[in-house]
Amino acid sequence: MSVNTEVRDDVAIITLANPPVNGLGLSTRQGLVDALDTAVADPAIRGIVVTGGSRAFSGGADIREFGTPQATQEPSLPTVIEAFERSPKPVVAAIEGMALGGGLELALGVHHRIADARAQIGLPEVKLGLLPGAGGTQRFPRAVGLETAINMIVSGEPVAAAQLAGTALFDAVVDGGAVDAAVALAREAATREGPHPRLRDREVGHADAEAFIAWSRLTVGAMSKQFPAPLKCLDAIEAAVKQPFDAGLKVEREAFAHLMQTPESAALRHAFFADRAASKVEGIDASTPRREVRSVGVIGAGTMGGGITMNFLNAGIPVTLLETGQEALDRGLATIRRNYENSAKKGKLTVEQVEQRMALVAPTLDYADLGDADLVVEAVYEELGVKEQVFGELDAVAKPGAILASNTSTLDVDAIAAFTGRPGDVLGTHFFSPANVMKLLEVVRGAKTTPDALATVMDLSRKIRKTAVVSGVCDGFIGNRMIEQYSRQATFLLEEGALPQQIDRAIEAFGFAMGPFRMGDLAGNDIGWAIRKRRYVEQPEMRYSRTADRLCELGRYGQKTGAGWYDYAPGDRTARPSPVVTDMLRQHAAELGVPQRRVSDEEIVQRLVYALVNEGARILEEGIAAKASDIDVVYLTGYGFPVWRGGPMFHADQVGLYNVLRAIRGFASGHEGGAWEPAPLLVELAGSGRTFN
Ligand code: NAD
Repeated sequence: MSVNTEVRDDVAIITLANPPVNGLGLSTRQGLVDALDTAVADPAIRGIVVTGGSRAFSGGADIREFGTPQATQEPSLPTVIEAFERSPKPVVAAIEGMALGGGLELALGVHHRIADARAQIGLPEVKLGLLPGAGGTQRFPRAVGLETAINMIVSGEPVAAAQLAGTALFDAVVDGGAVDAAVALAREAATREGPHPRLRDREVGHADAEAFIAWSRLTVGAMSKQFPAPLKCLDAIEAAVKQPFDAGLKVEREAFAHLMQTPESAALRHAFFADRAASKVEGIDASTPRREVRSVGVIGAGTMGGGITMNFLNAGIPVTLLETGQEALDRGLATIRRNYENSAKKGKLTVEQVEQRMALVAPTLDYADLGDADLVVEAVYEELGVKEQVFGELDAVAKPGAILASNTSTLDVDAIAAFTGRPGDVLGTHFFSPANVMKLLEVVRGAKTTPDALATVMDLSRKIRKTAVVSGVCDGFIGNRMIEQYSRQATFLLEEGALPQQIDRAIEAFGFAMGPFRMGDLAGNDIGWAIRKRRYVEQPEMRYSRTADRLCELGRYGQKTGAGWYDYAPGDRTARPSPVVTDMLRQHAAELGVPQRRVSDEEIVQRLVYALVNEGARILEEGIAAKASDIDVVYLTGYGFPVWRGGPMFHADQVGLYNVLRAIRGFASGHEGGAWEPAPLLVELAGSGRTFN
């Protein structure tokens, strides 16, 4: 039963009961209409209350139903809402928890609403590239006025009910007791003369609606270039202002149906599900035991160790921070404090919060102090010898059951696990820089990592607000292993006549937040140089363009040296095309004897993106990533891949794997074509007309 009815004297209380958030799936919708019909037919009932629970009135559509026939099967949500709106007996919504999307639209369709002040109210459909399609764009502006409605529908951000008190949305906003108040109101409303109030009968409030909509269109248009949904939201809201209610509903339905078909919405919905799917890991479920993590140790207070520490402090988890020397320890602590103080200056933290967080760090030089930690994250130099020494010491002091994690980006997590006598407790936590800001966390599952250690870290990642994706052990894990192929293509293109600024421009136009060369200048080109030097020894068969090495030999490490792929004026991060780099590239190409040609932007995008896709296919095939959507999550959250394209694997599916493979085969006969051995999985899927996702 997903709906329960309780009769309190002459009022029927219909309670949604579809955990976790009272999603409006088919059986819930049927239950609602049945309960309404029963209450209307019962002569002893005079008024009706609809409610949910303290967690949720309703979170909206049941996402488990997305894409299935049940999603649109009657009674559809508009049908349910119409039934409630037409009820001859007054209906009051009692909103104690979230009323989001379709949940709010249901409440908008009844005659009265009472909300708890803390209830979250919102129409988040735009975040999936859609708009509220069950009357939300028509009734909500009539309830809260044009300006608030535009802000909330276009942003998708929920607000507390208290913020909407005093609007026609609510008859009352209360501190507790919403259901009791709703029962009393239903009873009183039953005694009133005349028809029950309906939002559809109101006008949208605004002094100068026309001008406000025109202004909104300009700002929203500028902010949402790649996304059609926000402007469609405005179209529908405009109809609420200018057209009769039912004509407005029609505009809304058409816009909804249109958006549902757009690739942008498909990508956003994919990203939404991919994100949720990332936390579902093979071999782990609700029955897998979790370990308690009450305190954490971090080894190394450098760039990464400091940021990693902040994540735990922010979540209220105390951290023991270990360094080899007092000076490094003091420097690390000072950096953490400075970061917090900068946040305080921007008003994001109070001075007290800064002190509270700093009070949670216990600095130390003594491994014995890590003996109580439930989890220890190592972030020392990237050298296997150093890791060996650190994990040896850690193994000696860590308590039984402590989870031992390495933040290594390139080293073998299984080898690190073997430095301890408890490899089942060892895994990788690959944070991204800056670790206190970047959302992505690759959790590296070693050959011997136990399910409960992995499950514990996956749960913990949510507590520290990271999006965790599980990766198997390999060089570079999911993200960096793929980006290496992308970077190789970018530098091979330089040998053929493309310039850094053209490549960056093309890939940024595709939607990447930053092209590879601007990115290199920001991160420091010396980092890749160091990695390549190691590769030249360890993997001499892997070919690299030497352009990036030549750049580094010129001392052009990037922004930090005032010059990289671009020139920089002192104190200015604007990347300016560099004649020095152009000359270096021309000379390099001449020495290699590579014929120069005009490379199209389309080729640039395909070579870079398909390099990701091809390596992604290998990563899937090898089981390093469990599913294609995990790879998409890595790229969307960690690498600035355009969200409206859904991630590299989803994008490849959209282009069609046959077309991707055909392009790859074409590149294989070009310059450095040896880099383009198509992944067997890609060949197989393309041949059978299937997709990655
Ligand atoms: P870093 O040089 O900034 O910091 C390393 C710190 O470890 C230094 O403060 C050093 O004093 C300390 N240290 C060295 N040996 C130690 C020991 N035996 N015991 C305790 N402390 C010791 O380096 P980083 O950039 O923070 O990188 C740390 C780890 O994180 C590396 O494994 C690196 O590959 C990985 N990583 C770095 C990035 C990045 O962008 N910098 C991103 C992901 C992962």
